[in-house]
Amino acid sequence: MRIDKLLANMGYGSRKEIKDIVRAGQVTVNGVVIKDVKQHVQVETDRVEYAGELIEYKEHVYFMLHKPQGVISATEDTRERTVIDLLQGRDKAFSVFPVGRLDKDTEGLLLLTNDGQLAHQLLSPKKHIPKLYFAHIEGTVTEEDKLAFADGVTLDDGYKTMPAELNILRSDSRSEIELTIMEGKFHQVKRMFLARGKKVTYLKRMAMGTLHLDGELLLGHYRELTNEELELLK
Ligand code: URA
Repeated sequence: MRIDKLLANMGYGSRKEIKDIVRAGQVTVNGVVIKDVKQHVQVETDRVEYAGELIEYKEHVYFMLHKPQGVISATEDTRERTVIDLLQGRDKAFSVFPVGRLDKDTEGLLLLTNDGQLAHQLLSPKKHIPKLYFAHIEGTVTEEDKLAFADGVTLDDGYKTMPAELNILRSDSRSEIELTIMEGKFHQVKRMFLARGKKVTYLKRMAMGTLHLDGELLLGHYRELTNEELELLK
């Protein structure tokens, strides 16, 4: 790969800026200063440094985002803030996109990646990847709701949901529940409760397949997946 392409892919600036950086002698390959942006490097084996900092080339990146309310799960929008606006510095260069969607008012785990194959695999309706949600529900949630969800409920458009597991954590004038669903229809959790005449007032995704939201991650913050998390997910 050409050195200017590598640096651009890694978010080190525009082609013009990179030309200037290279011409200024700030980039070394295996310890040797290079001045020609057309120089090719072996991304696997060559040691490329910019201003003394090692550049580890990655084709794909995987970010676990703790999505806050108020941002939409899209890559760009003319009016709304998107999850991509939460990325910092050079991370913006990777052209990541959200794997699936959370509603604007839903918080929680959202995977951002530029790995289309993994995204496709995780979103495939045939794979039935479980998604775990935590929610506040207005009013009481009952054993009948639990049985109805286990059986599948009919949504407003006539679709019957697959069996889902409801765990009632607290049932009162305001209830708290966990729900695991194996599919991802539009507004599915909210519509499942609506089918039972109940309203979701707060919704947070806690897990998707083997990937669990990191409890240390503040709202609006993100981090790269660990190798272990990624291997388990693939
Ligand atoms: N179900 C919903 O209703 N909303 C979400 O954001 C995710 C699942």
